[in-house]
Amino acid sequence: MLYKKIPIGISSCLLGEPVRFDSGHKNNVYIGKVLSQFFDFKPFCPEVSIGLGIPREPIRLVSTAPGAPVRCVGTKNSHLDVTGALSACATDQFRWVSDLCGYIVKNNSPSCGMERVKVYTKNNPQRIGVGIYTAAIIKAFPNLPVEEEGRLGDAVLRENFIKRVFIYQRWREIEKTLDNKQALVEFHTRHKHILMSHDQVKTRELGRLVAELGHIDLMDYCERYLTTMTQILRKPTNKRNHSNVLYHIKGHLKRCLDETDRAELHDTIEQYRQGYLPLIVPITILRHHFRKNPDPYIDKSYYMKPHPRELMLHNAL
Ligand code: SF4
Repeated sequence: MLYKKIPIGISSCLLGEPVRFDSGHKNNVYIGKVLSQFFDFKPFCPEVSIGLGIPREPIRLVSTAPGAPVRCVGTKNSHLDVTGALSACATDQFRWVSDLCGYIVKNNSPSCGMERVKVYTKNNPQRIGVGIYTAAIIKAFPNLPVEEEGRLGDAVLRENFIKRVFIYQRWREIEKTLDNKQALVEFHTRHKHILMSHDQVKTRELGRLVAELGHIDLMDYCERYLTTMTQILRKPTNKRNHSNVLYHIKGHLKRCLDETDRAELHDTIEQYRQGYLPLIVPITILRHHFRKNPDPYIDKSYYMKPHPRELMLHNAL
């Protein structure tokens, strides 16, 4: 199947560009070979952009005391303070970043890191920092899916990030038709099962917001919906939540399946819940039954097809 590539920001060094302080790079094969089939990467190196040059003196985050403001300075020359330059550099990128549907950043970088970057207090490092550039991007675009390259090695985090990118892209499309309330309701209907697999309580809360759609300001609605949806999707899924959703979907087949098929499906979901089978197995069986017994509501749901099959992200969950 042909997909329209999704615009994603990325730290340049992850695409193999030799922009690091030592003229090296951190080429990531999964990003370059697999994700690039679906994502249109927009590389950017903040340190090069502020004129630090290649090669350059490494920089690091420092603080005078725990909780005190964090600065980004040279490792040898502490008078080289690029904190303001990196923040301003991020602000200068807001125009093109606002068109993105996700951002992949390099971990451990005092400019690009998303979390747990070393902050030095009297040469004693603590992993409590965020890269100065990425912190400014996250603050300006709190709902943009942002992930670190290192965390993409974890199957659950990888699936979560990629799923959020695809959902965010669909949301951006919906935003273009803001006056179309039906499209907003439809968006919720199609994503409800995915949201339930993250947090059933908050998904119900979101459902109440959707029910108010005719009575509240549309801009206000969209802001509240997107913020709550982001909170829900950031919460990791687990086998219990997925099993509940699978049983819920199975319920739509109750009049179509004979006893043997029902028992087999139940057994497969249980085996998934207990960790003996990956998520792709019950989903494949459900898809098989819905192909033979189409259901318009389930057919619309993105739960069993949140991202391209070729990425095989359900195989490792
Ligand atoms: S981590 Fe960021 S600042 Fe460092 S080389 Fe890569 S893109 Fe440039």
